[in-house]
Amino acid sequence: MKVTSPALSRIAPSQTTAMTDRATALREAGVDVISLSVGEPDFATPAHVLEAAKAALDAGQTKYTPVGGTARMKQAAAQHFARDLGIEAPVSQVTVSAGGKQAIFHAIAATVGEGDEVIVPSPWWVSYPEIVHYAGGSVVPLQTVAKHGFRFTAGDLEAQIGPRTRWLMLNSPGNPTGAVYDEAMLRSIADVLRRHPGVLVMSDDIYSPLIYTDAPHVTLAALCPDLADRILTISGVSKSHAMTGFRIGVATGPEWLIRAMETLQSHSSGNPCSISQAAAIAALEGPQQFLAEWRDRFRARRDMVVDAINAIPGLATPVPDGAFYCMVDATPLMDRFGDDAALALHLLDQGVAIVPASAFGGRDGFRISFAADEARLREACSRIAKALT
Ligand code: GLU
Repeated sequence: MKVTSPALSRIAPSQTTAMTDRATALREAGVDVISLSVGEPDFATPAHVLEAAKAALDAGQTKYTPVGGTARMKQAAAQHFARDLGIEAPVSQVTVSAGGKQAIFHAIAATVGEGDEVIVPSPWWVSYPEIVHYAGGSVVPLQTVAKHGFRFTAGDLEAQIGPRTRWLMLNSPGNPTGAVYDEAMLRSIADVLRRHPGVLVMSDDIYSPLIYTDAPHVTLAALCPDLADRILTISGVSKSHAMTGFRIGVATGPEWLIRAMETLQSHSSGNPCSISQAAAIAALEGPQQFLAEWRDRFRARRDMVVDAINAIPGLATPVPDGAFYCMVDATPLMDRFGDDAALALHLLDQGVAIVPASAFGGRDGFRISFAADEARLREACSRIAKALT
């Protein structure tokens, strides 16, 4: 007998993780597949982080921790928000979860219900709309286009806000487009938000160290402290410190929301993994200089992939300003393939895993992650060229 809930019937499995699992299964079966489907730095987790995890194991830190993380972990997170994002918050306004994804899930589940609307810029990260749907809310897409750097304007936002708008999702640098909102854009978005005091903002800053322009990363809660009591800022160590498997995300926002998220967490995962917290403390408190080196390597990879993709007839990608994804347009190839899901399957057959644009609320293209080593990226691009020519 199969019994599923109405809430489950509103969502589908994550297409980024599904494609990656598929590529992994093919590789395990001996098929030569290069996976550029997941956003995961290929760099090894830094040695001092691994040492901290081992030391935690040896010290017997293998038991429950407080629901929202240990006091030490919360301090490290608060220090990270202050030092790296310019957000000064007491530890009572900080919480730690099993990846940024869990923090987002809990925040939406704690605040969104039937009839509530969440404005999500599109193309979007796969999990935003699904989490909203699971909670019973509706997604109001805010369509963005490549020629404007996949960024919405204050006017676009104002047009979508209604009486039931609960949240605006902001993701800069953004997945899957690499869009970066600069200070002037954020200030104009803030002006709109001031006219709509009931709208909360989820600022997902998980890619903050990965900006390739000269301007530094700016985040709304630091730029507009008058709005900070309705902004939840998400960060973590997964993308910055190559620690995806540790599953540690951190969040800061108004205390009522942080407590609500912890109430849910007390009934879901219970607490973030104790060993992972020790590793994340080492990551956030240890040396940070290598982040700039990694960013420079990502920039070089980006340039290489953008050039290679744009040299393939039928494909076009703008140059992303941040994160490690290119959103590739393949419209001229749709006559041949029908849709981008078919194109993705064809590329998988030819040994490259990517994610179709439709997974992100886009169409007729695909997302390629350049968080892989140079040789694999080069080989992947030449396989794509061969597969499409
Ligand atoms: N955020 C990454 C991606 O978009 C990891 C997979 C996921 O959680 O979606 O590829």
